[in-house]
Parts: sequence; C-alpha cells; structure tokens
Amino acid sequence: MSDRYAVIGNPIAHSKSPLIHAEFARQTGQCLEYGRILGDPNDFAGDARRFFAEGGRGLNVTVPFKEQAWALADERSPRAELAGAVNTLIRLDDGRLRGDNTDGVGLVRDLGDNHGFRFQGARVLLLGAGGAARGVLLPLLETGPERLLIANRTVSKAIELAALGAAFPSATPGAGGTVEGRGLKALEGESFDLIVNATSAGLSDAVPAIPEDCLSDGGWIYDMLYGDAPTAFQRWGRTHGAARALDGLGMLVEQAAEAFWLWRGARPETLPVIKLLRG
Ligand code: NDP
Repeated sequence: MSDRYAVIGNPIAHSKSPLIHAEFARQTGQCLEYGRILGDPNDFAGDARRFFAEGGRGLNVTVPFKEQAWALADERSPRAELAGAVNTLIRLDDGRLRGDNTDGVGLVRDLGDNHGFRFQGARVLLLGAGGAARGVLLPLLETGPERLLIANRTVSKAIELAALGAAFPSATPGAGGTVEGRGLKALEGESFDLIVNATSAGLSDAVPAIPEDCLSDGGWIYDMLYGDAPTAFQRWGRTHGAARALDGLGMLVEQAAEAFWLWRGARPETLPVIKLLRG
C-alpha cells in the first residue's frame, strides 16, 4: 500500500495541494496517495488523530486549523514555534507528531530563487500582523534585510509581532538590521525595496491604506494572495512603479515543496508546477 498524505481545511474543495503533490510525486517517482479532508470545525484534533491512526504519514493544514495543528503537535520546529501555527504535520517513527511551518520558506524561495530578489540589505515592509505575517516572519528575518518594518491596521498587533521577532533567538536580521512594528498611518516619508502584502484586504479586492510613495524606485511588491486575475495589490504595484508585482501562487507551490521534502526527503522541481497551475 502506498504512503498516505492529505490536506485538511474547511472549506477544502478549492485546494490545489492534491494537484501539486501529485505532480511532485510523479516527478520524483514516489509512490504516495494525497487526499483532501474537510475538517470538522469543532474537532480538528479528532480528524487529524484518526487520519494518523489509520496509517497517514503527513498532513498539510490550512485555514482555519493552523493554530490547532500547532497545539496538537508533540514537537515543533523553531519557525513553527514563532509562527504559533503549523501548516505541516509529520508522523515520526515513534508515532509522535512533529509540526512545522513552511509558509515563510515558501515566500523567501519564491522571491529569492524563482525571481532573483536580493534580501540582503533590503528595506522590507511586511503588511499585516495576522497568521500569514506571523508565519513568514522568522524566514524573512533570516534572509538578512537591513530593515523589516511590520505595519498593521491595528497598531498594537504590529508592535507585538515585531517584539516577538526581535526577541526570537535565531532571528538575525543583517548587520545593523532592525525589526519594528507600526500602524499603517505611520509610514509617511518611508521607502521600501520590497512590500509584502500579508493582509486579507485583497479578499474584498481592497488594498491596505499605505502612502502612495512608499515603494522605492525599482522596488518590488509581493501579494501572498493569488487568483486567476491580478490581485488588487498587484494592480496597486503596477500603478505605483513596481519593478515586479508578484502574486502568492509561487509561495503556495514552494511551501508545498518544502513539506514534500520534510515528508519524503526529495526536492521536486517547482517551476514546472507553477507553470502548470498558471496554465
Ligand atoms: P488573518 O485574518 O489572520 O489576518 C488578516 C490581516 O489582514 C490582519 O493583519 C488585518 O489587520 C489585515 N487586514 C484585513 N483587512 C484589511 C484592510 N482592509 N486593510 C488593511 N489591513 C487589513 O489572515 P491571514 O494572515 O491568515 O491571511 C492573510 C492573507 O494571506 C490571505 O489573503 C491568505 O489567502 C494569504 N495567504 C497566502 C498563502 C500562500 O501560500 N500564498 C499562505 C497563507 C496565507 P487587523 O489586525 O487590523 O484586523
């Protein structure tokens, strides 16, 4: 019997993860099954435990269960610990569950490896302080930006998240690098080489209210959201002179590739899969 994996979320029918992992398995010659589980909002732990008790080897976890997956894990990676959320569960040989969070590495690999963004010494603005922002914080800090500014509509959340990042032992911004939290309204006069949108504003086709001139000449924007058409923030980037205005589809595939590697010890090619999904 082939090894079993799945993605669990609610809703789940829209998830691209089964297609992505089927492609990874085909490419690397791995024999596995990958399904979808519509999780019970009142009993995530029960659903997950049942899957593993029936022989499941790993789960991808999506909205709204990432925090519950964090609580369920018997041990966690440092990046999952800081994120307070787990998007990948791995059943260890002794039956315990290890939790990881591959969202941040997905973002960094898509920007850095797939598109050639140079984080070292860059001034980075991270918009939002919810689960997605928290999930990418440590990997972003570890790329060595000169400055990471977290800006959020609710100021206190940005300040708290920045303090968490600054205090984390392995969070090492580049020489002289800083991490700071502010409100969206406190960005006047600032300029950034990269703006990452980790807010959910785009779900209602809106953009966070940031100053018109806060993207540097040649600056990039990255929207974690993705869809069939350019997102509202991609459109904002294009009308505000962004050298590149990227969506989050590459991040989705890269976070999946990291999960695949954690489970199978094989690194799939991601670019053909991104191309396939865009097609
Ligand atoms: P949360 O609900 O945890 O957080 C939402 C954040 O967006 C908060 O910081 C909130 O601010 C802010 N926000 C919402 N509306 C507005 C607005 N109109 N203007 C300014 N700020 C706003 O959501 P998540 O963090 O889980 O998800 C955020 C986005 O990231 C989603 O679109 C999701 O699809 C995407 N995502 C993409 C991934 C990928 O692989 N590409 C992976 C994970 C997430 P406040 O605190 O003030 O309410």
